[in-house]
Amino acid sequence: MSDLSSLEERGLAELKACSTETELRAWKTRYFGDRGDITLALKQVGTVPQAERRAYGQKANQVKEFLNSAFEDALASAKRQDLERSLVSERLDVTLPGRWVPTGRLHVATQVLRQIYAIFADLGFQVYRSREVEDDLTNFELLNMPPHHPARDMWDTFHTTKPGVLLRTHTSPGQIHVMRECCPRPIRVILPGMCYRYEAITTRSEIMFHQVEGLAVGTRVSMADLKGTIIAFAHRMFGEDRQVRIRSSYFPFTEPSIEVDMDCIVCGGKGCTLCKRTGWLEIMGAGMVHPTVLQNGGYDPEQFSGFAFGMGPERIAMLKYAIDDIRLFWGNDLRFLRQF
Ligand SMILES: [Zn+2]
Repeated sequence: MSDLSSLEERGLAELKACSTETELRAWKTRYFGDRGDITLALKQVGTVPQAERRAYGQKANQVKEFLNSAFEDALASAKRQDLERSLVSERLDVTLPGRWVPTGRLHVATQVLRQIYAIFADLGFQVYRSREVEDDLTNFELLNMPPHHPARDMWDTFHTTKPGVLLRTHTSPGQIHVMRECCPRPIRVILPGMCYRYEAITTRSEIMFHQVEGLAVGTRVSMADLKGTIIAFAHRMFGEDRQVRIRSSYFPFTEPSIEVDMDCIVCGGKGCTLCKRTGWLEIMGAGMVHPTVLQNGGYDPEQFSGFAFGMGPERIAMLKYAIDDIRLFWGNDLRFLRQF
């Protein structure tokens, strides 16, 4: 019986010496494990003389209960202290400003392209995409430029090593593709995409750039429709009070052909460096689809007519945001790109 009393005292003293959960768990094994002191003391009940056995058993159980509940208390208190310690040492200051996460954005050319899509979508135009690698036939011949036609000099071309295969110099070959696909139904599409020219790179010209072509074909499409479409576009893109001017021009695939100017967005027509003192800025070329081109697309020019226009979204962006160098678009300079 005195052994049990000293076991209780020793167990309690050792328990109080434990300061961490790990130490407490080691104590528990030492006393309550398979070969622990309490376990062994309980097993000894059988060896105690008959007369003392009952009292010994009771006392052993009391010691067991006492130490076990002391352990549970100590463990709960150790866990509470751990939590308090971590709350203090790992405190989160929710008033600190958040860390800045860099976010990407759309390239300015893509943004302007999407504005153009939205404007023409409102006017009932669908987007039609066509290939960037073209054949000579579609890029030139079917657009009314037979081999050796002098008009071909207007487009310095990247030819591939395979004869007759080239990088498209404009989006106009898409007109042939969409007409052949849709004939004889009416057409109202824009044809956006990258074009390539074998040219010196300057502040005004790049070897690759976007173009957006527009094409409308139907039985009663007129020059008035073209003019209305262009004016609606200029107003939506650059502002309701923009003036539009039309000059006659020449393209092999339209007849008549026109160039479209808009009054200068900087000086409003008085003359400045952007408009080279003329007061006007060129925004696109256009015209009525040439009968030969209509025919090559499968439409009878006696019955159908159409208009087409073409513009450069980078040019549009340069006018809209007063960008003075087209090379900035593909230069990957973040100081430029981050401004949009
Ligand atoms: Zn001006």
